[in-house]
Amino acid sequence: MSQLEFLPFTKPTLDEETIQSVANVLRSGWITSGPKVQEFEAALSEHFGGRPVRVANSATAALEIGLRLMGIGPGDEVITTPLTWVATVNVILKVGATPVLVDIDPATRNIDLDLLEKAITPNTRALLPVDLAGLPVDRRRLYEIAGAHNLRVLEDAAQSQGATSHGERIGTKGDLCSVSFHPNKNITSIEGGALVMNTLDEAREFEKWRLQGVERLPDGTMDVTLPGGKCNLTDVAAAVGLGQLKRIVEFNTKRTRLAHRYFDRLNRDLGLELPVWSDDSNWHMFQPLLPLERMKFGRGEFIAKMKDKGIGVGVHYPALHLFTLFRAMGYSEGQYPVAERVGASTVSLPLFPGMSPEDVDRVCEALEQVMKEALA
Ligand SMILES: *Cc1c(COP(=O)(O)O)cnc(C)c1O
Repeated sequence: MSQLEFLPFTKPTLDEETIQSVANVLRSGWITSGPKVQEFEAALSEHFGGRPVRVANSATAALEIGLRLMGIGPGDEVITTPLTWVATVNVILKVGATPVLVDIDPATRNIDLDLLEKAITPNTRALLPVDLAGLPVDRRRLYEIAGAHNLRVLEDAAQSQGATSHGERIGTKGDLCSVSFHPNKNITSIEGGALVMNTLDEAREFEKWRLQGVERLPDGTMDVTLPGGKCNLTDVAAAVGLGQLKRIVEFNTKRTRLAHRYFDRLNRDLGLELPVWSDDSNWHMFQPLLPLERMKFGRGEFIAKMKDKGIGVGVHYPALHLFTLFRAMGYSEGQYPVAERVGASTVSLPLFPGMSPEDVDRVCEALEQVMKEALA
C-alpha cells in the first residue's frame, strides 16, 4: 500500500497538445481576452446546440451576470437548494435579491420539485436549480413548473456539463444555463465559467457586465452604460478550455465506467448509502453517505483514516444554511432535514478520468477496512 501513489479525490487530465497550445498563446504577444476566447465561445456554442455562449473568469461571475440579465434585484425571490457550493446562493445575495431555500429529494439529492412548487410566492422571479454531482434536475418537470408560474430559470450546471435530461444534453434547451471550468469540474480552463443564453442581445449585455459596462461603438469610440465588473477570461485559460472541451465526451465516458465499477465492487454490507444510478449523470462525483449513527468515529476521522491508506476523500457539501452567514440571517438547524442529513454524512470518493479501474478497487478495499473498524 505505502508504495502506491496517493490517490486524490479528483485531478485534471491535461494533455501535451493543450500544454503546447498554452505555450503558443504565451508566445503570441496577446495573452488576455482575444482570439482564443472567441474560438472557445464558438466551440462552446456548438457544444450547446448553437445557442449563444459567453465565457467569464468563473462560473460564479457567469451566474451573477445571469441574474443581472434577468433583471433580478432587491425584493425578488430566487428559489434554490441548500445543498450546493455556496456560490449558488452568494450570487443571489450579491444582486440584492432574496434566496428562498427548499429541501432536497433524498434520492437525487437535488432540489425537491414538489417542495419547490409550494415555495413559489408572488415575489418569486426565478428558479436556480443545481445538478449536484452531475445528476440533472428533471428538466421537463422543472420547465413545466417555471412555465405555469411565468418564472425565469437559471440552471447552475457547474457540475453537469455533458449530462442529459430526457435524452437532451444540459444547456442545449431551456433558459439561461451556467457551467464551470474550475479544475475540479469535468472540464477545466484553470478557472473559468460560461453562460448559455437565448439571444444575441443577452450575449451583448453579458459582455458589458463582464467588462466594466463598456460598449464599443462603430466609430471606434466607446460608451459605458452599466457598472460592469472585471470578469473576462484570458486567452491562456481559453486555450486550456479548448483542449478540454474536445475531450468532454471521452472524459465523461471514463467517469461513467469508473462509477459503474464502484457500484460493482463496493461491499453493500458496509452500510453506505449509495447515490442513485442514472444514465443521465456525467458522474462529476461519486458520493456515498456514511452510516454515522452506527459508526464508532465521525466523518473527520473516517477521512483521516482513508488518507492514511493513501486515498483522498472530499466533502461536497455541508448544508449551507448552517454556515455563520446564513445563521446570522435567521436560518437554523432542522429547517432542511434532508439536506442536513446528506450534508453531514456525504463523502466524495476519488473519481476522475485519469483513474484506472484498479484505483477504484483500491478505494473499495480501503473503505472495507476503515468501515469494518468503524462498525466493529
Ligand atoms: C463550482 C461550482 C460553482 C462555481 O464555479 P466557479 O467556476 O468556481 O465560480 C457554482 N455552483 C456549483 C454547483 C459549483 O459546483
